[in-house]
Amino acid sequence: MRSHYCGELTAKNISEVVTLCGWVHRRRDHGGVIFLDLRDREGVTQVVFDPDRAESFALADSCRSEFVVQVKGLVRARPEGTVNPNMNTGEIEILGHEIEILNRAATPPFQLDEHQAVGEDIRLKNRFLDLRRPEIQQKLRLRSKVTSILRSYLDDNGFLDIETPILTRATPEGARDYLVPSRTHQGSFFALPQSPQLFKQLLMVSGFDRYYQIAKCFRDEDLRADRQPEFTQIDLETSFLGQEEIMSLTEGMISNLFKEVKDVDLGAFPRMPFSEAMEKYGSDKPDLRIPLTIETVSDLMTEVDFKVFSGPAKDANGRVAALKVPGGNSLTRKQIDEYTKFVGIYGAKGLAYIKVNNKADLEEGLQSPIVKFLPVEVRQALLDRVEAQDGDLIFFGADQTNVVNEALGALRCKLGADLDLYTCEWAPLWVVDFPMFEQTSDGGITAIHHPFTAPSCSPEDLKANPLTALSQAYDMVLNGTELGGGSIRIHQSEMQETVFGLLNISAEEQEEKFGFLLDALKFGAPPHGGLAFGLDRLVMLMTGSASIRDVIAFPKTQSATCLLTQAPGEVSEKQLKELSIRVRKPVTE
Ligand code: ASP
Repeated sequence: MRSHYCGELTAKNISEVVTLCGWVHRRRDHGGVIFLDLRDREGVTQVVFDPDRAESFALADSCRSEFVVQVKGLVRARPEGTVNPNMNTGEIEILGHEIEILNRAATPPFQLDEHQAVGEDIRLKNRFLDLRRPEIQQKLRLRSKVTSILRSYLDDNGFLDIETPILTRATPEGARDYLVPSRTHQGSFFALPQSPQLFKQLLMVSGFDRYYQIAKCFRDEDLRADRQPEFTQIDLETSFLGQEEIMSLTEGMISNLFKEVKDVDLGAFPRMPFSEAMEKYGSDKPDLRIPLTIETVSDLMTEVDFKVFSGPAKDANGRVAALKVPGGNSLTRKQIDEYTKFVGIYGAKGLAYIKVNNKADLEEGLQSPIVKFLPVEVRQALLDRVEAQDGDLIFFGADQTNVVNEALGALRCKLGADLDLYTCEWAPLWVVDFPMFEQTSDGGITAIHHPFTAPSCSPEDLKANPLTALSQAYDMVLNGTELGGGSIRIHQSEMQETVFGLLNISAEEQEEKFGFLLDALKFGAPPHGGLAFGLDRLVMLMTGSASIRDVIAFPKTQSATCLLTQAPGEVSEKQLKELSIRVRKPVTE
């Protein structure tokens, strides 16, 4: 139906007669001449209809926004003074000869170029219109380019694309499962995969050696800002490669992607142990674009006459830490109050600070509500520790270690953004040497990565010191976002049983839930390991989007619903009966 895309026409096409198909982006009536801006996925072209051709002029005049039309006309140079350098097609216009209205459109609920003023709910409800916006089309096109480049990298490196089931058993990654009732086995349920983890390990046992899949994963979590109940992973697994080899292969994959898509050279990714990340950045995904670091000062505070500091300083699970903001003493009282409120979100009970006006004068040169509690020697040691200069501000966190880390870690990122402290555009790194387990609030332990991750020690040592044992897990982090994570896996059933045991999974439960894995590990499982990248987050970063919803064609809302299709929805009595399901009234507050 078309000879060209609207957006591809340039001065080179002048004097050609072309046929275009697309949507009426805008219609303007300029004193007897009708302008239609015609849009398709490649861009917008201006078409002019003059009254000489009465029939097409009348049709063009009757067009409204989002009508679908076919236009035939002559490409000509725009009259002098009307060239638009901001448009690809800004040098030309089409003199419309013929127009056919292929379909009419009701008045759209919002103008496509005025989306900013429109609530996201309205846009998501009318996603088919929202997706017409050039901005979002670009993002989805970039996403398609990303997957295509990743696929060819993996194909070139000998990976096989193999699909794994969606209707399956629970694949634990630490979230709640989405369940699907079975009609043929009433009372039994499938779980949607939280990841293809166990299947990809089984593929290694089967000898496929290198697997990848662009896989949908499902996790029924209470949604935080950048989560979706279903999301996409670039999932991969390899046999007979060690941690270093897997890291270098996947680092190569991401570097190559950034080079091809953004012409950015990411350089070699530094490696940072988990303990250092937590200590210096308060996070296992540090944003290294921001030059601020967190310094432990607990040892200076054990004897001070200020319980808020001395309490956590003396507590084995507590921490007193300082975050120096160079030049930060220009922050106002109001700003500091706002940061105090901000750290409250992370459980911090306050935000002590010292403004360093003159470091040579430890009596008058330090401005702070708390400095009176600190002996002069402590003040000096503190300034030395954080290498304070005149004009700096020092924030403090004093609490349980995890509260201090979370609060100061988040504050560090917020200051980085608010004060625009970024030193570079892209800061990738690997975080390594994660602990195997962490303590849960009920006194038990849980796997930090997942229960199939290999520890760095023997089963005996693991049993003896589960909480200090390290794992062979690794995360790739970019600009404070976890891009991907993986590990070397347990490939021997004895070790797997040890880990299950430590996680308090009884022998029966192990057999019932993971019998197939334990069996597989007994039949010649090779050493193997892999990793999964979050595609949505990767594309979000690459497109500079504020939310992963902007890079997913049909995303769900924060409350896990689809406003477009109104899913989840009720089902008929008949369907429920077939499944032997009776719905109790939902529990209301
Ligand atoms: N299955 C893991 C995840 O979804 C990734 C991996 O260990 O390969 O986080």
